Amino acid sequence: MIRHPKITVAIPVYNEEDVIPELIRRVTATLDALPGGPHQVIFVNDGSSDDSLTILKKAVTEDDRLVVVSFSRNFGQQPAYAAALEYVDGDAVVLMDGDLQDPPEKIKTLLEKYNEGFDVVYAIRVNRKENVIKRLCYNVFYRMIQRLSSTPLPLDSGDFSILSRRVAQLLASDADRHRYLRGIRSWVGFKQIGIEIEREEREAGETKYTLRKLFKLAADGIFSFSLIPLRLATLIGSLSVLVALLLAAFAVYAKLTPADQLPNFMKEIPPGFTAITVAISFFAGVQLMFLGVVGEYVGRVFEEVKRRPSFIVDQVISNQSKWTPNTPTHTDSFTNTTGGGKADEPTS
Ligand code: UDP
Ligand code: MG
Repeated sequence: MIRHPKITVAIPVYNEEDVIPELIRRVTATLDALPGGPHQVIFVNDGSSDDSLTILKKAVTEDDRLVVVSFSRNFGQQPAYAAALEYVDGDAVVLMDGDLQDPPEKIKTLLEKYNEGFDVVYAIRVNRKENVIKRLCYNVFYRMIQRLSSTPLPLDSGDFSILSRRVAQLLASDADRHRYLRGIRSWVGFKQIGIEIEREEREAGETKYTLRKLFKLAADGIFSFSLIPLRLATLIGSLSVLVALLLAAFAVYAKLTPADQLPNFMKEIPPGFTAITVAISFFAGVQLMFLGVVGEYVGRVFEEVKRRPSFIVDQVISNQSKWTPNTPTHTDSFTNTTGGGKADEPTS
């Protein structure tokens, strides 16, 4: 265990020009106060259309610790985190949103827990300062996915976390195109723990997660981590077949029995009409519904076999001349980054 790990902070940025100056100030101040280093901050500019990239580029010239990875267009927050993971230089990686909802000062708290020997320390969100409807949606979603998933996914944990280098590399090498990072993070195993951290309000600007993006994230979470919706299709499908068989038996019985021997209520039903209508509409509904479920999985398989990258990097901006991106397979600097082969010694 490295006593004073070199930290890399990974921050996705999409149209956050109003927040970035304050963000950089608070993150660098936090890193200044940490022992060890030199630490690193990777901003992933996710195709911002405002001045975010310009501001970030300028910041890089002023602080050697900053690196900007800029996408060719907007790919989404999860691919942005994934990209950052491929450029990590530190012994431990902090994933943190760029809107200051994850308070940078808490990196210290995460790190303290991490130093107790964990591979993953994630923030559990308490007191979400968000509107009631969004909070309710989150609540339902996290509980639903926990029940559905075959991997235990911790409740109310966001992306804000600190990861050991080996976990970061595993996440970076994960080929899952429909990334749901907090799912894979839990799936990799090792020693993990959650600590409660209050989530702040957004520093400035609006949420960059439209309802559509939020639903996409939720669907990725569910369909990438659970086969239960498919099994549900089998279950409900079988039940419908059973009901249909009963209906059929009833119809045949009514047909074959002479009218005078039928119970009274059967004589009054207009021949077949109700049963057929009910059955057709019900089963058509069930079929369509589960065609949709199957479609979700087929769609994901389709995305996977295309092997299209989940993001495209346009440029990497860094002041460090020797700096080269680490590929996920590059493991030999794992314990070697504090120098002198004495990575375990405190450096201050
Ligand atoms: N983000 C991104 N790409 C997107 C949407 C969001 O990189 O397409 C970033 C955004 O800049 C922020 C983080 O992801 O740093 C979280 O986004 P946001 O605060 O809008 O989400 P919320 O906190 O409302 O769920
Ligand atoms: Mg936010």
